[in-house]
Amino acid sequence: MKAVIKEGTNLGAELKTIERPKAKEGQVLIKIKAAAICGTDIHIYQWNNWAQNSGIKLPAILGHECSGEVVEVGEGVKNLKVGDYVACETHIPCGTCYQCKNGQQHICQKLSLFGVHTDGCFAEYATIPAICAVKIPQSIHPNVGAVLEPLGTSVRANVEIQSSGKNIAVIGCGPIGLMAVNAAKAFGAANIYAADINDSRLEIAKELGATDIINSTKENLGHKLVELTKGVGVDAFIEASGSTLAILDGFKGLRKGGMVALIGLPSKALEIDLGSQVVFKEAKIVGIHGRRMFETWTLMSNLLDKGLLNIDPVITHVLPLEEFEKGFDLSIKGIGGKVILVP
Ligand SMILES: [Zn+2]
Ligand SMILES: [Zn+2]
Repeated sequence: MKAVIKEGTNLGAELKTIERPKAKEGQVLIKIKAAAICGTDIHIYQWNNWAQNSGIKLPAILGHECSGEVVEVGEGVKNLKVGDYVACETHIPCGTCYQCKNGQQHICQKLSLFGVHTDGCFAEYATIPAICAVKIPQSIHPNVGAVLEPLGTSVRANVEIQSSGKNIAVIGCGPIGLMAVNAAKAFGAANIYAADINDSRLEIAKELGATDIINSTKENLGHKLVELTKGVGVDAFIEASGSTLAILDGFKGLRKGGMVALIGLPSKALEIDLGSQVVFKEAKIVGIHGRRMFETWTLMSNLLDKGLLNIDPVITHVLPLEEFEKGFDLSIKGIGGKVILVP
């Protein structure tokens, strides 16, 4: 089979023909219908600091966001059969730690990641633990199925801040932020203020349901959020930029008693006045590390199946797997939204 393999620590990866893997005990073999390039893949592709310190063993097949069909079932697998249409959950839980035993397997203590600590899905076939292959409705297009993993993060952020009827801000309009805008719309947020530094991404945000867009290089984000809410501040914000400046601006634009969902990862430590921005404000802050397994998946499937989520505008490029280099180039330059690779 064809696969995009990272062999050495130099920039890039190679398309190779290798032997098709077999489903081992507890695994399924999936014929990949579509896969999506994510920030994590870019880190590994570039072999940056993060990649060097993430316990990744080379050579490895890149990619973790995908949809496909089960074509082989390993020993002991009872929840799936050949022909099932699935999308992949990236978080592989150990099944035995405190978190796994207490309903939080998505933040398992010994968490490993599909396509990071195992071979991934930029290939014609991939093996994955059966627990991580989630059955999805046939009504979901394979390209959309490939981005359910990041979409789930966006949906979950909206669940945590209880978007319904609220004035919320989404800071950072990369693919996760854009999908958070659409999820906020699906959940019935009253006003959705989308902020970014890139006008083309803000235009996509508008298409996805943002009621107002803010270019934070042209306007003071914190002040603007207060102004848009008639001096009150937003009920909640979802942080998907990872920019320390934007995070602080978000807090300035947050009303007293407001809520915050943090997704973005700042590259350096953040200094914040906890007194004025959190304690006296009684701000509630929640970190989002992926999807709850599997409540978020169920919710997301329902919303997509009913047409309440429409994230098509986020998928801006669909390329054959052979053109993965072009796909990475587009993603690295931040042109458009999600890039899909089709084997
Ligand atoms: Zn991802
Ligand atoms: Zn565990």
